[in-house]
Amino acid sequence: MSEKKQSSIMSQEMTKVISLCRRRGFIFQSSEIYGGLESCYDYGPLGVELKNNVKRFWWNAMVRDHENIVGLDAAILMHPRVWEASGHVEHFTDPMVDCKVCKHRFRSDMVEGDKCPDCGGQLTEARQFNLMFKTQMGAVTDDAYEVYLRPETAQGIYVNFLNILNSSRQKVPFGIAQIGKAFRNEITPRNFTFRTREFEQAEMQFFVKPGTDKEWFEYWKEQRMNWYYKLGIRKEKLAFHQHDKDELAHYAADAYDVQYEFSFGWKELEGIHNRTDYDLKKHQEFSKKNQSYFDDQTRERYIPYIIETSAGVDRTVLTILMDAYEEQQLEDDVRIVLHLSPAIAPYKAAIFPLVKRDGMPEMARKITDELKKRYMVFYDDGGAVGRRYRRQDEAGTPFCITVDSQSLEDQTVTIRDRDSMQQIRISVDQVAEWLNEKVTA
Ligand SMILES: [Zn+2]
Repeated sequence: MSEKKQSSIMSQEMTKVISLCRRRGFIFQSSEIYGGLESCYDYGPLGVELKNNVKRFWWNAMVRDHENIVGLDAAILMHPRVWEASGHVEHFTDPMVDCKVCKHRFRSDMVEGDKCPDCGGQLTEARQFNLMFKTQMGAVTDDAYEVYLRPETAQGIYVNFLNILNSSRQKVPFGIAQIGKAFRNEITPRNFTFRTREFEQAEMQFFVKPGTDKEWFEYWKEQRMNWYYKLGIRKEKLAFHQHDKDELAHYAADAYDVQYEFSFGWKELEGIHNRTDYDLKKHQEFSKKNQSYFDDQTRERYIPYIIETSAGVDRTVLTILMDAYEEQQLEDDVRIVLHLSPAIAPYKAAIFPLVKRDGMPEMARKITDELKKRYMVFYDDGGAVGRRYRRQDEAGTPFCITVDSQSLEDQTVTIRDRDSMQQIRISVDQVAEWLNEKVTA
């Protein structure tokens, strides 16, 4: 399929999701009232709940469920030598060409020939541009440090290897997990929040004895794919892609991507890499601090190998939204629904009084107050109940609880399921337990 045809199909599906994100408050363009800042996005009320739920889902799967994984929250600004040791200063570059007429910049491998794709002007020769964002640290410009906004969170983990080893009573094999922002000055950001200059990573670096790395690599491949299944993403849209020799980083022994089939093609959600002992060796060389591990059982000393699982949080959120989005043709209209897993949906339930009188609002309020002690829930008494259902369908709220006239007589409520639109009636004092079972399943 030609690039053009692909991007026009992309725009149909993507445009619908972007429109929903804006309409319901998941994701907005950054600085929109000033015309927007390209490739930067803000998460609105529903978006931040969804994103926080995804991050918690990851943290629980990695840190809470594994006794040999501990957490870290390292600073975004790091010593400039870190990026010399990691190779980013020298190698983290893209070849760029500039248009001499309109001044637009392109990655040279993204343009054909020597003419500007935007205006037809003459392009410059390709030059290497570093993708790290630079800034100054210090009060006086003269003695200011030049520092970088980290282009990946991984290095914050590597330079804390000894600190954590010495303070947490962990023994190899063990892992360090971190969620945090990273910055890359990509010249061609694209596809909404799929590729952005500021993004959030969820990374885990697992330190293992050399020789056991292949086994652990397989273990983490399986664990990570299962995580996406548990998120509720359709299995047939997920696949592994193994890096061949051309794609493989020079230090990596093996690498697989978890890919999702977007409308614009199969794209990487997460990288699982066998990074060998490359990173700790480099930091040992540049810092002159011994990074080896002493195994007091076997009396061996070695530099651990690292198995890395590196996921993009924003990408995962976009994948969840695109995978969950459906337009259903009903008898008389079209229903837009987000089939989000209850575990990560922004609101677990919405509570409606059928009408705004006869004590129904009071009873619905009481249910809301009870449920909100444990969950994000939403009270809504505005407009026809059918329209309230539809608003929650677009927000991905799995359950709508309605107080009607029967509720006042026998203390029951209806619960309407988002996906099937079927309703059941249960006793009001069973609602909290019923909901708890559904959202933790
Ligand atoms: Zn141009």
